Amino acid sequence: MSSDPHILIIGAGQAGAETAWRLRGGGFVGKVTLVGDEPLEPYQRPPLSKAFLAGKVSRADLVFRGADAYAQMQIRLLSETRVEDIDRSARIARLLGDEALRYDVLVLATGARPRRLPVVGADLPGVHMFRTAADVDAIRPSFRPGAKLVVIGAGYIGLEVAAVARQCGLDVTVVEAAARPLARVTSPEIASFFLSEHSAKGVRFALGAQVASIRGHEHATGVTLTDGAELPADVVIAGVGVTPEVSLAQRCGLTIDDGIVTDANCRTEDPSVFAIGDCASRPMRHYDNRMVRLESVHNAIEGAKLVAASILGQNPPVLEAPWFWSDQYDLKLQIAGLFQGYDRVVLRGDPRDRAFAVFYFKQERMIAVDAVNKPGEFLGAKALLQKGLSPSPEVLADMTKPMKEIVATAG
Ligand code: FAD
Repeated sequence: MSSDPHILIIGAGQAGAETAWRLRGGGFVGKVTLVGDEPLEPYQRPPLSKAFLAGKVSRADLVFRGADAYAQMQIRLLSETRVEDIDRSARIARLLGDEALRYDVLVLATGARPRRLPVVGADLPGVHMFRTAADVDAIRPSFRPGAKLVVIGAGYIGLEVAAVARQCGLDVTVVEAAARPLARVTSPEIASFFLSEHSAKGVRFALGAQVASIRGHEHATGVTLTDGAELPADVVIAGVGVTPEVSLAQRCGLTIDDGIVTDANCRTEDPSVFAIGDCASRPMRHYDNRMVRLESVHNAIEGAKLVAASILGQNPPVLEAPWFWSDQYDLKLQIAGLFQGYDRVVLRGDPRDRAFAVFYFKQERMIAVDAVNKPGEFLGAKALLQKGLSPSPEVLADMTKPMKEIVATAG
């Protein structure tokens, strides 16, 4: 690296902003530039489908820090600026409008983009994606009591949006192609609990249902399903997953395989290029070094920690098992570990109390937990996963044993 190295971070979201901050916090004295194509300073996305949609927090609450803070830390923040191309041999990134930025180290933190609905009518006014603060600004005026909302996709974002909409008095129908909600992300036990909670709040579900088209001339007026059912709608929100934003990486020849491929320290095959957050996939120690791409705040922060440590020449940080959360009504779901591949579930507590945990086991080892209004169980399981410890299913199911004791005595 040169004596005044320049770190260029493309993507001013959770992962990119965290990297810039950690570099300065770790004493990096070279140049740091953070380029993002959104108009707002870097901000948190989780509140978008929760308190921000509900109108309980403002844009100022969303941003991590105001523009002044970046200036004070000598981080050059270029908002509303899109990087169009990267020339890796010359180490130059070209911005829209032809400005070029030379770099010593490049960090790709380009996130993910929502999948578009591949149906007629998907581009009508009144049909929305759900990824950015601007998306929510466009949706909020239609969140009026009595308005008809059709949410397409019953993943976490779709269900969080449905919960806020019901609390705002909208008439809500959720359409899901799978036979149950949350099919990709959790077990039937947790899915059926959330299905009954939403149904009790008045949300209607069309499960195992495919969207044929969105009706309307100047504005969406309804959703037609492939079985011919017609769902009237004043507003339609598509929450049908995301694809990693890899277009820049692809164009400059980096390897892509469900995200930009990196090593365990987030370095791509080009030693001067890192990739982190939703756009990247890396081998994870907690999963036998299998390549994993995660979409979570925790993963974005871990990527930033790894990159900052590499650039600063420090030892890699100790990494935690993955964790995630979702808020719906007064329910806080907290997840630690990855449940995929489980062969047994262990229930701790009673879902009728609206506070319980489901532990996932694979070959007699606990691999993950979904805890509903049970923060102690979440924290306990997270600590156990971190240490590679696993209590027996019988012990975990025994509500007479406090979670703290289970953690302290696990082998
Ligand atoms: P992003 O935050 O998406 O940032 C990437 C940025 O790069 C974007 O601003 C993008 O516009 C920009 N960009 C892309 N290409 C270019 C380019 N060529 N030039 C310039 N800029 C570019 N996670 C949780 O753990 N818990 C939750 O409860 C939770 N809730 C969520 C709710 C919603 C509605 C959403 C959308 C996500 C939620 N997530 C949640 C996921 C979490 O927010 C993401 O995993 C996290 O934001 C990923 O950070 P990132 O920096 O990788 O990507």
